[in-house]
Amino acid sequence: MTISKSVHTGSASVEAAEGPATHADGAVFMDGEYLPIAEAKVSILDYGFTRSDTTYDVVHVWNGSFFRLEDHLDRFFRSLGKAQMSLPHDRDAVREILIECVRRTGLRDAYVAMLCTRGLPVTRRDGSRDPRHAINRFYAYAIPFIWIATPEQRERGMHMVISGVPRTAAASVDPTIKNYNWRDMVGGLFEAFDRGAETVVMLDPEGHVNEGPGFNVFAVIDDEVVTPESGVLEGITRMSVMDLCQEIEVPTRFAKISADELLEADEIFIASTAGGVMPVTRINGRILGTGAPGPMTRRLTDLYWAKHDQGWHATPIDYG
Ligand code: PLP
Repeated sequence: MTISKSVHTGSASVEAAEGPATHADGAVFMDGEYLPIAEAKVSILDYGFTRSDTTYDVVHVWNGSFFRLEDHLDRFFRSLGKAQMSLPHDRDAVREILIECVRRTGLRDAYVAMLCTRGLPVTRRDGSRDPRHAINRFYAYAIPFIWIATPEQRERGMHMVISGVPRTAAASVDPTIKNYNWRDMVGGLFEAFDRGAETVVMLDPEGHVNEGPGFNVFAVIDDEVVTPESGVLEGITRMSVMDLCQEIEVPTRFAKISADELLEADEIFIASTAGGVMPVTRINGRILGTGAPGPMTRRLTDLYWAKHDQGWHATPIDYG
């Protein structure tokens, strides 16, 4: 009997079950070299692991081109500044590393991450936890494109609940610094599954609609596309949605949205680098509209991908 182990069990078992690891499953840049994803390892003492002290960004590659690469680099370097982290590489070098990660995989559609952890604490016996003494570490990787929603969910719309767990206050963990502090959203996801739903949207501590695990949220209310004004990651897909609405002359608004307004919305959709614009058709068990993705959501989804095909904000990759 062949026992096939998942890639998450580590490189040794991958090799045993499937042959040597290659860059085709994903390529990682760390410590100055490129490795197959299954061979990349981080220290168990890295503050990125022990304190969630990490900032990162994710850009996608579609049809062999990066989408809005410069916007993602802008946000990543802004996050690094706000988190008081620094890299041994400048922006041009990071861009080259991301390109090389993708080139090594050969992937035409990819999920490409750049991240910086606080790094390792200095080994001092007095128990110092001074983050200024850690040496920040940079990693990058490219793996096959990830969709937040399954093909079925994208077709029929996701079933969402409004979380009973409030989002960590923005004054405590700044959500504009893209981060791994997901304890609240993981709790929200478990709640969603317990309630028979598939995803969750958080409320901020004042009870306004916030964001979800890996996405910004939008409501269509009286023919206007509305999204939370603050306290969320300033998503690059959110920016794309706003640009597309402007192009097709649909009014938009950044606003505080109450839970009741979301429950009464004509349409709800989510936006993420990991899947673009994706429909929500149930909220707290309530069926939105006809129960199928609404016309505004469909229009924006179609336009988002059509514009990709036209080279909108594209940085083509030379695969060599
Ligand atoms: N909000 C959170 C918490 C996220 O993690 C993400 C993406 O991972 C988003 C929003 C969407 O941002 P973007 O459109 O830049 O992918």
